[in-house]
Amino acid sequence: MAQAVKGTRDLFGNEMKWFQRIEDTARRVCSRHGYEEIRTPILEEIEVFKRSVGESSDIVNKEMYEFMDKGGRHVVMRPENTAGVVRAMIQHKLLVNNDPRLLYYIGPMFRYERMQAGRYRQFWQIGAESFGVASPESEAENLMMLFAFLRELGLKHLNLSINSVGTPECRPAFHKAIREFFQAREERFCEDCHRRIEANPLRVLDCKVPGCQAALAGHPVITDYLDEASRQHHARLKELLTALGIPFEENPRLVRGLDYYTRTAFEVLSSDLGAQSALVGGGRYDGLVKHLGGPEVPAFGWAIGLDRLAILMQQLHGEAPLNPPALLIPLGEAASLKALTLAQDWWDQGLAIQLETRGVNLKKALTSANRQGTRFALILGDSELEKGVVAARNLGAGTQEEWPLEEVPARLRN
Ligand code: AMP
Repeated sequence: MAQAVKGTRDLFGNEMKWFQRIEDTARRVCSRHGYEEIRTPILEEIEVFKRSVGESSDIVNKEMYEFMDKGGRHVVMRPENTAGVVRAMIQHKLLVNNDPRLLYYIGPMFRYERMQAGRYRQFWQIGAESFGVASPESEAENLMMLFAFLRELGLKHLNLSINSVGTPECRPAFHKAIREFFQAREERFCEDCHRRIEANPLRVLDCKVPGCQAALAGHPVITDYLDEASRQHHARLKELLTALGIPFEENPRLVRGLDYYTRTAFEVLSSDLGAQSALVGGGRYDGLVKHLGGPEVPAFGWAIGLDRLAILMQQLHGEAPLNPPALLIPLGEAASLKALTLAQDWWDQGLAIQLETRGVNLKKALTSANRQGTRFALILGDSELEKGVVAARNLGAGTQEEWPLEEVPARLRN
Protein backbone atom coordinates (compact mmCIF):
# COMPACT_ATOMS: atom_id res chain seq x y z
CA MET A 1 0.00 0.00 0.00
CA ALA A 2 1.30 3.43 -0.88
CA GLN A 3 2.40 5.67 2.00
CA ALA A 4 3.01 9.41 2.20
CA VAL A 5 6.58 10.29 1.17
CA LYS A 6 9.06 10.14 4.07
CA GLY A 7 9.03 13.36 6.06
CA THR A 8 5.63 14.45 4.75
CA ARG A 9 2.28 13.82 6.32
CA ASP A 10 -1.45 14.17 5.80
CA LEU A 11 -3.27 16.73 7.90
CA PHE A 12 -6.71 15.80 9.14
CA GLY A 13 -8.80 15.53 12.29
CA ASN A 14 -7.69 17.33 15.40
CA GLU A 15 -4.36 18.50 13.97
CA MET A 16 -6.05 19.97 10.90
CA LYS A 17 -8.57 21.75 13.10
CA TRP A 18 -5.72 23.35 15.04
CA PHE A 19 -4.07 24.37 11.75
CA GLN A 20 -7.33 26.05 10.72
CA ARG A 21 -7.74 27.80 14.05
CA ILE A 22 -4.13 29.05 13.90
CA GLU A 23 -4.44 30.22 10.28
CA ASP A 24 -7.74 31.99 10.95
CA THR A 25 -6.20 33.77 13.94
CA ALA A 26 -3.14 34.79 11.91
CA ARG A 27 -5.31 36.20 9.11
CA ARG A 28 -7.45 38.16 11.56
CA VAL A 29 -4.56 39.63 13.54
CA CYS A 30 -2.38 40.42 10.50
CA SER A 31 -5.29 42.05 8.63
CA ARG A 32 -6.10 44.38 11.48
CA HIS A 33 -2.48 45.59 11.49
CA GLY A 34 -2.82 46.36 7.78
CA TYR A 35 -0.82 43.36 6.50
CA GLU A 36 -1.97 41.83 3.21
CA GLU A 37 -1.65 38.18 2.27
CA ILE A 38 0.76 37.16 -0.49
CA ARG A 39 1.12 33.71 -2.06
CA THR A 40 4.23 32.94 -4.04
CA PRO A 41 4.94 29.71 -5.93
CA ILE A 42 6.38 26.71 -4.13
CA LEU A 43 8.95 26.31 -6.91
CA GLU A 44 11.62 28.97 -7.27
CA GLU A 45 14.82 29.11 -9.24
CA ILE A 46 17.75 27.93 -7.17
CA GLU A 47 19.51 31.27 -7.45
CA VAL A 48 16.81 32.92 -5.33
CA PHE A 49 17.98 30.93 -2.29
CA LYS A 50 21.67 30.77 -3.11
CA ARG A 51 21.76 34.54 -3.23
CA SER A 52 19.56 35.19 -0.22
CA VAL A 53 19.79 32.42 2.36
CA GLY A 54 23.43 32.06 1.44
CA GLU A 55 25.64 29.30 0.05
CA SER A 56 27.28 28.72 3.42
CA SER A 57 24.00 28.00 5.20
CA ASP A 58 22.82 24.50 6.15
CA ILE A 59 19.59 25.14 4.28
CA VAL A 60 21.31 25.74 0.95
CA ASN A 61 24.16 23.34 1.60
CA LYS A 62 22.35 20.20 2.57
CA GLU A 63 18.63 20.69 3.01
CA MET A 64 17.22 21.82 -0.33
CA TYR A 65 14.66 19.81 -2.26
CA GLU A 66 16.10 20.67 -5.65
CA PHE A 67 15.83 19.16 -9.10
CA MET A 68 15.99 19.87 -12.82
CA ASP A 69 12.55 20.26 -14.37
CA LYS A 70 11.71 18.95 -17.84
CA GLY A 71 12.76 22.25 -19.38
CA GLY A 72 16.21 21.97 -17.81
CA ARG A 73 15.59 24.62 -15.15
CA HIS A 74 17.29 24.09 -11.82
CA VAL A 75 14.42 24.59 -9.34
CA VAL A 76 13.91 24.27 -5.59
CA MET A 77 10.84 23.55 -3.52
CA ARG A 78 11.09 26.63 -1.32
CA PRO A 79 12.79 26.02 2.07
CA GLU A 80 11.45 29.34 3.39
CA ASN A 81 9.33 32.16 1.99
CA THR A 82 11.15 35.44 2.64
CA ALA A 83 13.34 35.10 -0.45
CA GLY A 84 10.32 34.29 -2.64
CA VAL A 85 8.35 37.24 -1.28
CA VAL A 86 11.28 39.58 -1.98
CA ARG A 87 11.68 38.10 -5.47
CA ALA A 88 7.96 38.77 -6.11
CA MET A 89 8.17 42.33 -4.75
CA ILE A 90 11.04 43.09 -7.10
CA GLN A 91 9.51 41.32 -10.11
CA HIS A 92 6.22 43.25 -9.79
CA LYS A 93 7.94 46.55 -8.95
CA LEU A 94 6.02 46.86 -5.72
CA LEU A 95 8.80 48.62 -3.84
CA VAL A 96 9.50 51.52 -6.16
CA ASN A 97 7.68 54.42 -4.51
CA ASN A 98 9.05 54.15 -0.96
CA ASP A 99 5.64 53.41 0.56
CA PRO A 100 5.68 50.81 3.31
CA ARG A 101 4.47 47.37 2.17
CA LEU A 102 3.11 45.05 4.84
CA LEU A 103 2.67 41.40 3.88
CA TYR A 104 2.00 38.03 5.44
CA TYR A 105 2.06 34.51 4.05
CA ILE A 106 0.90 31.05 5.06
CA GLY A 107 2.12 27.95 3.28
CA PRO A 108 4.20 24.78 3.07
CA MET A 109 8.01 24.81 3.04
CA PHE A 110 10.39 21.95 2.23
CA ARG A 111 13.71 20.99 3.77
CA TYR A 112 15.50 17.71 3.35
CA GLU A 113 16.24 17.29 7.05
CA ARG A 114 16.96 14.36 9.26
CA MET A 115 13.69 13.30 10.83
CA GLN A 116 13.11 14.23 14.47
CA ALA A 117 10.09 14.92 16.62
CA GLY A 118 8.43 18.08 15.32
CA ARG A 119 10.80 18.28 12.31
CA TYR A 120 9.43 17.39 8.93
CA ARG A 121 10.53 17.63 5.31
CA GLN A 122 7.31 19.35 4.40
CA PHE A 123 6.26 21.75 7.11
CA TRP A 124 4.22 24.93 7.28
CA GLN A 125 5.11 28.46 8.16
CA ILE A 126 3.25 31.67 8.75
CA GLY A 127 5.32 34.77 8.26
CA ALA A 128 4.99 38.52 8.19
CA GLU A 129 7.28 40.97 6.42
CA SER A 130 7.33 44.74 6.60
CA PHE A 131 9.13 46.52 3.76
CA GLY A 132 10.18 50.14 3.51
CA VAL A 133 10.52 51.11 7.16
CA ALA A 134 13.82 51.05 9.03
CA SER A 135 12.66 52.36 12.41
CA PRO A 136 12.66 50.53 15.75
CA GLU A 137 8.99 51.61 15.97
CA SER A 138 8.14 49.43 12.97
CA GLU A 139 9.85 46.50 14.68
CA ALA A 140 7.86 47.13 17.84
CA GLU A 141 4.63 47.27 15.82
CA ASN A 142 5.49 44.02 14.06
CA LEU A 143 6.37 42.30 17.36
CA MET A 144 3.15 43.54 18.95
CA MET A 145 1.28 41.85 16.12
CA LEU A 146 3.23 38.63 16.67
CA PHE A 147 2.51 38.65 20.39
CA ALA A 148 -1.17 39.45 19.88
CA PHE A 149 -1.34 36.45 17.56
CA LEU A 150 0.35 34.15 20.10
CA ARG A 151 -1.76 35.48 22.97
CA GLU A 152 -4.98 34.96 21.03
CA LEU A 153 -3.95 31.34 20.63
CA GLY A 154 -3.73 31.12 24.40
CA LEU A 155 0.09 30.77 24.59
CA LYS A 156 1.58 32.10 27.78
CA HIS A 157 5.06 30.78 28.48
CA LEU A 158 6.86 32.75 25.81
CA ASN A 159 10.39 34.12 25.89
CA LEU A 160 11.50 36.77 23.44
CA SER A 161 15.26 36.76 22.87
CA ILE A 162 16.76 39.67 20.99
CA ASN A 163 20.16 40.71 19.73
CA SER A 164 21.65 43.15 17.27
CA VAL A 165 23.95 41.76 14.60
CA GLY A 166 24.90 45.24 13.43
CA THR A 167 25.52 46.16 9.82
CA PRO A 168 27.88 44.66 7.24
CA GLU A 169 30.22 47.60 7.97
CA CYS A 170 30.72 46.78 11.65
CA ARG A 171 30.98 43.03 11.21
CA PRO A 172 34.59 42.66 9.93
CA ALA A 173 36.08 43.77 13.28
CA PHE A 174 33.85 41.32 15.09
CA HIS A 175 34.68 38.54 12.62
CA LYS A 176 38.36 39.14 13.25
CA ALA A 177 37.88 38.92 17.02
CA ILE A 178 35.80 35.75 16.81
CA ARG A 179 38.30 34.13 14.42
CA GLU A 180 41.10 34.81 16.87
CA PHE A 181 39.01 33.42 19.70
CA PHE A 182 38.22 30.36 17.57
CA GLN A 183 41.83 29.75 16.54
CA ALA A 184 42.93 29.72 20.17
CA ARG A 185 40.67 26.69 20.84
CA GLU A 186 40.20 25.24 17.38
CA GLU A 187 40.39 21.59 18.42
CA ARG A 188 37.30 21.91 20.61
CA PHE A 189 35.01 22.79 17.70
CA CYS A 190 33.19 20.45 15.34
CA GLU A 191 34.02 20.02 11.66
CA ASP A 192 31.06 22.09 10.51
CA CYS A 193 32.31 24.96 12.67
CA HIS A 194 35.70 24.80 10.99
CA ARG A 195 33.91 25.33 7.69
CA ARG A 196 31.72 28.07 9.20
CA ILE A 197 34.62 30.04 10.63
CA GLU A 198 35.91 30.52 7.07
CA ALA A 199 32.60 31.13 5.31
CA ASN A 200 30.62 33.03 7.94
CA PRO A 201 32.02 33.21 11.48
CA LEU A 202 28.70 34.38 12.93
CA ARG A 203 27.30 30.93 12.23
CA VAL A 204 29.66 29.31 14.71
CA LEU A 205 27.58 30.94 17.45
CA ASP A 206 24.52 29.21 16.02
CA CYS A 207 26.04 25.71 16.24
CA LYS A 208 23.83 23.33 18.18
CA VAL A 209 26.61 20.84 19.09
CA PRO A 210 26.97 20.90 22.92
CA GLY A 211 30.80 20.76 22.75
CA CYS A 212 30.87 23.86 20.54
CA GLN A 213 28.46 25.69 22.79
CA ALA A 214 30.73 24.92 25.76
CA ALA A 215 33.84 26.00 23.84
CA LEU A 216 32.14 29.31 23.11
CA ALA A 217 32.12 30.40 26.77
CA GLY A 218 33.50 33.93 27.02
CA HIS A 219 33.43 34.57 23.27
CA PRO A 220 33.50 38.14 21.91
CA VAL A 221 29.97 39.50 21.56
CA ILE A 222 28.75 41.38 18.49
CA THR A 223 27.07 44.05 20.62
CA ASP A 224 30.54 45.28 21.64
CA TYR A 225 31.30 45.98 17.98
CA LEU A 226 28.17 47.85 16.93
CA ASP A 227 28.39 51.18 15.12
CA GLU A 228 26.76 54.12 16.84
CA ALA A 229 23.55 54.08 14.74
CA SER A 230 23.03 50.35 15.33
CA ARG A 231 23.65 50.82 19.04
CA GLN A 232 21.02 53.57 19.20
CA HIS A 233 18.58 51.50 17.16
CA HIS A 234 18.98 48.56 19.53
CA ALA A 235 18.62 50.75 22.63
CA ARG A 236 15.46 52.35 21.24
CA LEU A 237 13.87 48.98 20.45
CA LYS A 238 14.55 47.79 24.00
CA GLU A 239 13.08 51.00 25.37
CA LEU A 240 9.92 50.52 23.28
CA LEU A 241 9.50 46.86 24.26
CA THR A 242 9.89 47.74 27.92
CA ALA A 243 7.32 50.54 27.66
CA LEU A 244 4.92 48.23 25.81
CA GLY A 245 5.20 45.50 28.44
CA ILE A 246 6.72 42.94 26.07
CA PRO A 247 9.28 41.08 28.20
CA PHE A 248 12.53 40.13 26.48
CA GLU A 249 16.01 38.95 27.24
CA GLU A 250 19.19 39.80 25.42
CA ASN A 251 21.00 36.90 23.83
CA PRO A 252 24.39 37.91 22.39
CA ARG A 253 24.70 34.48 20.72
CA LEU A 254 21.53 34.91 18.74
CA VAL A 255 22.61 35.57 15.18
CA ARG A 256 20.09 33.51 13.16
CA GLY A 257 21.27 31.29 10.35
CA LEU A 258 20.79 33.63 7.43
CA ASP A 259 23.29 35.93 5.76
CA TYR A 260 20.94 38.79 5.15
CA TYR A 261 20.11 39.85 8.70
CA THR A 262 21.09 43.35 9.82
CA ARG A 263 20.67 44.87 13.27
CA THR A 264 17.75 43.25 15.10
CA ALA A 265 17.62 39.45 15.25
CA PHE A 266 15.13 37.69 17.49
CA GLU A 267 13.57 34.39 18.45
CA VAL A 268 10.54 33.47 20.48
CA LEU A 269 10.91 30.32 22.51
CA SER A 270 8.18 28.49 24.28
CA SER A 271 9.07 26.72 27.51
CA ASP A 272 6.11 24.44 26.79
CA LEU A 273 8.01 23.03 23.80
CA GLY A 274 11.19 21.92 25.59
CA ALA A 275 14.45 23.78 26.03
CA GLN A 276 15.91 24.10 22.54
CA SER A 277 12.80 24.80 20.59
CA ALA A 278 12.38 28.12 18.87
CA LEU A 279 8.85 28.75 17.76
CA VAL A 280 9.51 31.95 15.85
CA GLY A 281 12.59 33.33 14.17
CA GLY A 282 12.97 36.74 12.65
CA GLY A 283 14.76 40.01 12.32
CA ARG A 284 15.79 42.88 10.12
CA TYR A 285 17.20 42.24 6.67
CA ASP A 286 17.88 45.63 5.16
CA GLY A 287 20.33 44.31 2.59
CA LEU A 288 18.25 41.60 0.97
CA VAL A 289 16.05 43.48 -1.50
CA LYS A 290 19.03 45.20 -3.10
CA HIS A 291 21.04 41.99 -2.99
CA LEU A 292 18.34 40.23 -5.03
CA GLY A 293 18.36 42.99 -7.64
CA GLY A 294 15.78 45.43 -6.25
CA PRO A 295 15.98 48.95 -4.88
CA GLU A 296 17.50 49.70 -1.49
CA VAL A 297 14.57 48.97 0.81
CA PRO A 298 14.77 48.10 4.49
CA ALA A 299 12.75 45.13 5.75
CA PHE A 300 11.82 43.30 8.92
CA GLY A 301 9.96 40.05 9.42
CA TRP A 302 9.49 36.72 11.11
CA ALA A 303 8.38 33.19 10.41
CA ILE A 304 6.66 30.80 12.76
CA GLY A 305 6.43 27.04 12.40
CA LEU A 306 2.81 26.00 12.16
CA ASP A 307 3.53 22.34 12.88
CA ARG A 308 5.12 23.06 16.26
CA LEU A 309 2.46 25.58 17.07
CA ALA A 310 -0.22 22.95 16.40
CA ILE A 311 1.61 20.46 18.66
CA LEU A 312 1.74 23.10 21.36
CA MET A 313 -1.95 23.92 20.99
CA GLN A 314 -2.81 20.26 21.25
CA GLN A 315 -0.70 19.92 24.42
CA LEU A 316 -2.23 23.00 25.98
CA HIS A 317 -5.84 22.69 24.93
CA GLY A 318 -6.31 19.06 23.88
CA GLU A 319 -9.21 18.58 21.51
CA ALA A 320 -9.63 21.32 18.95
CA PRO A 321 -12.39 23.69 20.04
CA LEU A 322 -14.45 23.29 16.89
CA ASN A 323 -16.89 20.67 18.13
CA PRO A 324 -18.44 18.47 15.50
CA PRO A 325 -21.84 19.90 14.58
CA ALA A 326 -25.17 18.52 15.55
CA LEU A 327 -26.47 15.61 13.52
CA LEU A 328 -30.07 15.68 12.29
CA ILE A 329 -31.45 12.15 12.08
CA PRO A 330 -34.75 11.72 10.20
CA LEU A 331 -36.62 8.46 10.70
CA GLY A 332 -38.82 7.51 7.76
CA GLU A 333 -39.55 8.94 4.33
CA ALA A 334 -41.70 11.92 5.33
CA ALA A 335 -39.18 12.97 7.95
CA SER A 336 -36.26 12.72 5.53
CA LEU A 337 -37.74 15.33 3.16
CA LYS A 338 -38.67 17.57 6.09
CA ALA A 339 -35.11 17.19 7.41
CA LEU A 340 -33.65 18.42 4.11
CA THR A 341 -35.82 21.56 4.11
CA LEU A 342 -35.23 22.22 7.83
CA ALA A 343 -31.49 21.82 7.40
CA GLN A 344 -31.56 24.19 4.41
CA ASP A 345 -33.20 26.82 6.59
CA TRP A 346 -30.66 26.33 9.40
CA TRP A 347 -27.67 26.30 7.08
CA ASP A 348 -28.95 29.56 5.58
CA GLN A 349 -28.92 30.97 9.10
CA GLY A 350 -25.27 29.98 9.41
CA LEU A 351 -25.74 27.01 11.73
CA ALA A 352 -23.42 24.02 11.48
CA ILE A 353 -25.51 20.88 11.19
CA GLN A 354 -24.75 17.56 9.61
CA LEU A 355 -27.49 15.48 8.06
CA GLU A 356 -27.89 11.71 8.35
CA THR A 357 -28.85 10.77 4.78
CA ARG A 358 -28.18 7.03 4.79
CA GLY A 359 -31.71 6.10 5.90
CA VAL A 360 -30.27 3.85 8.63
CA ASN A 361 -32.06 3.05 11.87
CA LEU A 362 -31.63 5.20 14.97
CA LYS A 363 -29.21 2.86 16.69
CA LYS A 364 -26.79 2.87 13.75
CA ALA A 365 -27.05 6.65 13.36
CA LEU A 366 -26.34 7.24 17.07
CA THR A 367 -23.38 4.86 17.04
CA SER A 368 -21.76 6.81 14.16
CA ALA A 369 -22.53 10.13 15.84
CA ASN A 370 -20.92 8.94 19.07
CA ARG A 371 -17.83 7.74 17.22
CA GLN A 372 -17.43 11.16 15.60
CA GLY A 373 -17.83 13.05 18.87
CA THR A 374 -21.02 14.81 17.76
CA ARG A 375 -22.53 16.91 20.52
CA PHE A 376 -26.25 16.70 19.76
CA ALA A 377 -28.32 14.16 17.86
CA LEU A 378 -31.54 15.81 16.71
CA ILE A 379 -34.00 13.01 16.10
CA LEU A 380 -36.97 13.62 13.82
CA GLY A 381 -39.49 10.74 13.82
CA ASP A 382 -43.21 10.64 13.04
CA SER A 383 -44.32 11.79 16.49
CA GLU A 384 -41.80 14.66 16.52
CA LEU A 385 -42.97 15.68 13.04
CA GLU A 386 -46.54 15.83 14.28
CA LYS A 387 -45.62 17.93 17.32
CA GLY A 388 -43.20 20.22 15.42
CA VAL A 389 -40.20 19.31 17.62
CA VAL A 390 -36.98 17.33 17.52
CA ALA A 391 -35.84 14.94 20.23
CA ALA A 392 -32.47 16.48 21.11
CA ARG A 393 -30.10 14.00 22.65
CA ASN A 394 -26.96 15.36 24.30
CA LEU A 395 -24.56 12.56 23.43
CA GLY A 396 -21.95 13.52 25.99
CA ALA A 397 -24.36 13.77 28.91
CA GLY A 398 -26.73 11.05 27.72
CA THR A 399 -29.77 13.27 28.36
CA GLN A 400 -32.65 13.94 25.97
CA GLU A 401 -35.31 16.63 25.70
CA GLU A 402 -37.77 18.00 23.16
CA TRP A 403 -36.87 21.20 21.32
CA PRO A 404 -39.52 23.05 19.29
CA LEU A 405 -38.20 23.35 15.71
CA GLU A 406 -38.10 27.14 15.78
CA GLU A 407 -35.93 27.06 18.93
CA VAL A 408 -33.26 24.76 17.49
CA PRO A 409 -30.94 27.51 16.13
CA ALA A 410 -30.93 29.45 19.41
CA ARG A 411 -30.42 26.32 21.51
CA LEU A 412 -27.52 25.09 19.34
CA ARG A 413 -25.87 28.48 19.50
CA ASN A 414 -25.81 28.27 23.30
P1 AMP B 1 13.70 29.09 10.26
O1 AMP B 1 13.10 29.45 8.92
O2 AMP B 1 14.74 27.99 10.18
O3 AMP B 1 14.12 30.28 11.05
O4 AMP B 1 12.51 28.42 11.08
C1 AMP B 1 11.42 29.15 11.55
C2 AMP B 1 10.50 28.21 12.26
O5 AMP B 1 10.00 27.25 11.34
C3 AMP B 1 11.17 27.37 13.33
O6 AMP B 1 11.19 28.03 14.54
C4 AMP B 1 10.31 26.14 13.38
O7 AMP B 1 9.20 26.36 14.21
C5 AMP B 1 9.85 25.99 11.95
N1 AMP B 1 10.62 24.96 11.24
C6 AMP B 1 11.80 25.07 10.60
N2 AMP B 1 12.18 23.90 10.06
C7 AMP B 1 11.21 23.01 10.34
C8 AMP B 1 10.99 21.61 10.05
N3 AMP B 1 11.85 20.90 9.32
N4 AMP B 1 9.86 21.03 10.52
C9 AMP B 1 8.97 21.73 11.24
N5 AMP B 1 9.11 23.03 11.54
C10 AMP B 1 10.20 23.67 11.10
